[in-house]
Amino acid sequence: MLNTGSTSADSTLVANQGPPLWLLAELTYRCPLQCPYCSNPLEFANHKDELTTAQWIDVFTQARALGAAQLGFSGGEPLVRDDLVELIEAARELGFYTNLITSGMGLTEQKVNAFKQAGLDHIQISFQASDAEINNMLAGSRKAFDQKLAMARAVKAAGYPMVLNFVTHRHNIDEIEKIIELCLALEADFVELATCQYYGWAHLNRAGLLPTKAQLDHAEAVTQRYRLKLAAENHPCKLILVTPDYYEERPKGCMNGWGNIFLSITPDGTALPCHSARQLPVTFPNVTAHSLSHIWYDSFGFNRFRGYEWMSEPCRSCDEKEKDFGGCRCQAYMLTGDATQADPVCSKSPHHDKILAARAEADLPQPPIEALTFRNERNSRIICKS
Ligand code: SF4
Ligand code: SF4
Repeated sequence: MLNTGSTSADSTLVANQGPPLWLLAELTYRCPLQCPYCSNPLEFANHKDELTTAQWIDVFTQARALGAAQLGFSGGEPLVRDDLVELIEAARELGFYTNLITSGMGLTEQKVNAFKQAGLDHIQISFQASDAEINNMLAGSRKAFDQKLAMARAVKAAGYPMVLNFVTHRHNIDEIEKIIELCLALEADFVELATCQYYGWAHLNRAGLLPTKAQLDHAEAVTQRYRLKLAAENHPCKLILVTPDYYEERPKGCMNGWGNIFLSITPDGTALPCHSARQLPVTFPNVTAHSLSHIWYDSFGFNRFRGYEWMSEPCRSCDEKEKDFGGCRCQAYMLTGDATQADPVCSKSPHHDKILAARAEADLPQPPIEALTFRNERNSRIICKS
């Protein structure tokens, strides 16, 4: 695949392209935890460089000038950056709606208050399980569960809505009732029950993480029962269940289209149309070498899968291509080795058998949770060498 990183785009694509609306700032790949479903690249240990405070603020300024309105601070664990307050202040001054996506590790009441004062709009805390033992084992920290509970309460006490994220998989999805009960006890306002999406470390561990169809059906039924109960009680808590596309017959319209509204900047300044695109055989531009305007409108990487010309059959002549854009390019690449293929989730894809095989594998007994490959420096370095 051609991938020069800065080739000028087809002028009709540029003329029709709107600005980025969402900016995801992956401030760092450093993280004290080791979730085996982390979406960071497997070879994150090879990417140590991080943009400076001034470089990040320059990125925010350029993105805002282009039209971006929402800014997510993510990682790794964004709290390990000691300039986070400064970055939040700069983003708010520019007029961004700001969101901090955190594991809660390293958070304190003082920091929550400092973020509030800096103007941060929203904090989302992620949990690994409703049970301290499984949570801490998955996170790789004996203190993680208690810390998350304390920080969820601190966030609410500071006047933020409590937004909790539970990543679910075959080892915890049967506990969905307990998870929801915990969220209600914490007085959560929004709960995202997000089944793993199979990128990065989750793809590596897919066989050990993918729930069975029966597990998913159970989780959907329990969530729906709670939704009805909460609605009848006029309860403010909203439950969002995100299911894996491995059990669908049509793919998701990934990122609402490649390079359409979403712009992700990795810790070293590499710009991506989605946070997992780094794995594709495409050279992506870096903010230290190019302006964001050039990156968004003119770079090869951002134009590579815009429009429909790049598609192979069956997508090219399919009457659904404007709905789903052929699905996810990363999933197509991971499962077929060719990023121009239809996402194999689609039942029209000649590679749909890969998805059917994964479903069948989920019905087989799998090794215990401890056998998963955890996301840590050591494992990343081993993967980099292999
Ligand atoms: S998913 Fe887990 S390991 Fe990955 S960045 Fe988030 S908290 Fe850290
Ligand atoms: S063939 Fe391609 S465009 Fe058509 S529904 Fe499947 S993934 Fe979407």
